[in-house]
Amino acid sequence: MKQHSTIKVTVAALGVLMFLSHCQQPTKGTTSQEELQAIFPKGELGPAENFTGQAWNTGLVANDSTLNMVVGNVYFEPGARSNWHTHPAGQILVITDGEGYHQIKGQIRQTLKKGDVVQCPPNVTHWHGASPAKGMQQLYIIPNTEKGIVEWLAPVTDEEYSSPTRHVSKAGERVLPHFIVRGTKDLIADHAMVQRYDDVLKAAGQPASYIQVEDAGHAFFDWKPDATTRATFARYGVPYAAQMQNFFNGIFSKS
Ligand code: MN
Repeated sequence: MKQHSTIKVTVAALGVLMFLSHCQQPTKGTTSQEELQAIFPKGELGPAENFTGQAWNTGLVANDSTLNMVVGNVYFEPGARSNWHTHPAGQILVITDGEGYHQIKGQIRQTLKKGDVVQCPPNVTHWHGASPAKGMQQLYIIPNTEKGIVEWLAPVTDEEYSSPTRHVSKAGERVLPHFIVRGTKDLIADHAMVQRYDDVLKAAGQPASYIQVEDAGHAFFDWKPDATTRATFARYGVPYAAQMQNFFNGIFSKS
């Protein structure tokens, strides 16, 4: 962008948009009409204590003491996913159709498509499942079953399933860069969660700056010049106004 003093962002012109809780209205996945191509039988419905939504499992190679291996296929319907879990000896996933995700705890989730191969290391907490709009079919291979097959943990909540990438628009569609402010006393959005959002934005090629406001109880995710958010920023954001201004000036002053 051209260097121009009028582009410089003034604090008065910007307000902080949306409390995080307002950002998290669930979006309904549209059920795809398109059926995945079934290679294996659909199998049995996975139990609700280990899966959210409809996930169908069919065993292909049963465990025995010669190979010490389990092979099977899971068909996740749109929005369906496993609980968080670990495999004592690891796991290999081969995606045979559809679209979904794999996420290791504390890391950005990975999008999976037909032909992708995932190696889940032993004893690492993770989940896998379908995208909201499209199901996913995955072949799984669990080696060294004498060490164990799976340890089930808590369900992947709707918030974990959709956050943070749902909030990240494509870099080219975004006019203003992100200046993310979090109150240190925010009980809904903890630091790790906001940091992941910042990481995702940067990984998507978007300029972003994340700072925390001491003693404030809300997290703010974006900019919007409405009266409510301006007033909130005036209350909590004043000590950080200079940092914000430097951030925006640094971006808009780039030649
Ligand atoms: Mn797994």
